[in-house]
Amino acid sequence: MSDCIFCKIAEGEIPSNTVYEDDSFRVILDLNPANEGHCLVIPKKHAEDIFELDSQTAAAAFKTAKKIAEAVKKAFGCDGINILQNNGEAAGQSVGHFHIHVIPRYHGDAVVIKSQAVKNMNPEDFVKTRDKIIKSL
Ligand code: 5GP
Ligand code: ZN
Repeated sequence: MSDCIFCKIAEGEIPSNTVYEDDSFRVILDLNPANEGHCLVIPKKHAEDIFELDSQTAAAAFKTAKKIAEAVKKAFGCDGINILQNNGEAAGQSVGHFHIHVIPRYHGDAVVIKSQAVKNMNPEDFVKTRDKIIKSL
């Protein structure tokens, strides 16, 4: 993808603060970090989102995220880490090249990442919802 900024960063055409690199991934510091040490795991092969990503790269990406999470925890002594991955504008994706956020967290910090309870569900609804997903697997 010639006009993709993360392709250019992953291939080293655009400089970045790289913390890790191998044949398949580059891990960089996010330009607008939620906290110090906020990293992005970027596959070198372009895929827009989780739907375009092949399963092997998806597995390897999570393995890389674990490696980086361990290093970030050791480096900053954070209280927690969010592993975040956005797909589609509606979900907050702003760069159309799959990436995983590794975000150090501290008790009482100002970062807001929430899975809010906004939908009321009764037990029958849960059964219907469960079955919808099972049918689509
Ligand atoms: P998304 O919202 O797509 O999940 O995350 C995109 C992230 O990429 C944002 O947190 C944003 O700060 C970061 N970002 C966007 N452009 C650049 C860039 O050119 N360099 C770096 N290092 N990070 C970027
Ligand atoms: Zn790309």
